[in-house]
Amino acid sequence: MALEVMLKLYNTLTKSKEEFKPIHAGKVGMYVCGPTVYDHCHLGHGRGYVSMDVIRKYLEYSGYEVRYIMNYTDVGHLVNDAEEGEDKIQKKARKEKVDPMEIVEKYIASAKEDFKTLNIKPANFNPRPTQYIAQIIKFVQHLVEKGFAYEANGSVYFSVEKFPEYGKLSGRKTDELIEGARVEINPEKKNPLDFALWIKADKSHILKWESPWSLGYPGWHIECSVMSYDLLGQDTFDIHGGGNENIFPHNENEITQSEAYLGKKMANFWTLWSMVNIDGEKMSKSKNNHTLIKDILKKYNSTVVRLWIISSHYRSVMDYTENSLGQAKINLGRITDWIINLENIAKNAATPLESKSLALGEDIDFTHIYQKRFEDAMDDDLNTPLALSVLYELITETNKLTTGGKLSSGTAKEILDFWNKINKVFGLIIKKEELTVPQEIITLAEERKRAREEKNFQKSDELREEIEKMGYVVEDLKDNQYSIRKNND
Ligand SMILES: [Zn+2]
Repeated sequence: MALEVMLKLYNTLTKSKEEFKPIHAGKVGMYVCGPTVYDHCHLGHGRGYVSMDVIRKYLEYSGYEVRYIMNYTDVGHLVNDAEEGEDKIQKKARKEKVDPMEIVEKYIASAKEDFKTLNIKPANFNPRPTQYIAQIIKFVQHLVEKGFAYEANGSVYFSVEKFPEYGKLSGRKTDELIEGARVEINPEKKNPLDFALWIKADKSHILKWESPWSLGYPGWHIECSVMSYDLLGQDTFDIHGGGNENIFPHNENEITQSEAYLGKKMANFWTLWSMVNIDGEKMSKSKNNHTLIKDILKKYNSTVVRLWIISSHYRSVMDYTENSLGQAKINLGRITDWIINLENIAKNAATPLESKSLALGEDIDFTHIYQKRFEDAMDDDLNTPLALSVLYELITETNKLTTGGKLSSGTAKEILDFWNKINKVFGLIIKKEELTVPQEIITLAEERKRAREEKNFQKSDELREEIEKMGYVVEDLKDNQYSIRKNND
């Protein structure tokens, strides 16, 4: 294991899969664009942050120490993602008649609760732009001094003409962008594509700070450049994550500001997830198909949701429909039954004669092969659907061995160890109590056990059939012990 893992990651910057090599041996710096906290997180956020969590956990599985930063945007993100209009948080605060910071606190708490429920490991830091105003001002000042940015009527804009590579991340050409720009051209801007680093506040704006240019507030994109710079070593870092719906303008402007400032790459890898559609349509508040994580969690347990998310590759568009989580629910039941079964078998004491190769009828290291296949799948740009199919194959194989009475307690234990290892990456919280065998089945199985003790094999066979009719499989173990599992095969 450890660092010989050959992870290949798709890099949005180069549009190709590249071998991952960290900047500092054994360490990975990762910055992920976080949500703007003016509402509860929707399914797209859930999908995105679970995907980033799996990447982080696979890097940790591979032996890296990961420093993971995800921001919460608490100022500067204006409606329509443009530079006109009201701040999203201020708008919500006005609607709810509270202070903007109350909105921020409320929705950060809500996001943290959702992330915890989805078993997303907390970030090392969750910086917020309102905590970074002094650094943002300094960063912008530096860009002005270097000639990349200019002040106009109290606002500061980045001059895209000064950065010939503008458009390289999103693949958009500047002349096409100008032609396509339907927004009314702000007369303060020298070029319609120039974007705000600092915005002079109008009278109605609540959140504003003193700066060399005006009483104002930062533009939406600058925060990620400044906070990643501050928290990930003031240099190029390893992985920048985010949702590909924000590739333009947000990520494009981030990379532009940072690389102008640094004079070199902002991040080696740009790892962006794809969105979630609802019934084949893009999620949007206007279509009223804006599905919240909290709504989904009312219908499904959080592990089903997480399993559903990782059953798709992070770069493919997912579609949520009324029944789309059904398969994940079945698969989770299958995994849970398998674990219960393995634990029951592992509890039995091994006899001296029992050996791994005998139990399997093959002279091979069973889990080693599955581990290699799991790692090959994950190394190929985090192919979680393939990694899960390796797990499902192992379940089928194990169940066959159990049915044939060929699974030793030692092998069961070994398979459980393997499961615990790969589940550090999948992050599925298995709640056995929800899926334990119903009491009526246990009663029948106990009755059958007594029949076997009395050597009444006719009765024991009848009871077995009855249990099978109810969808369960009972397997006999040594010393008249038994195990029961749901028949999923
Ligand atoms: Zn960002």
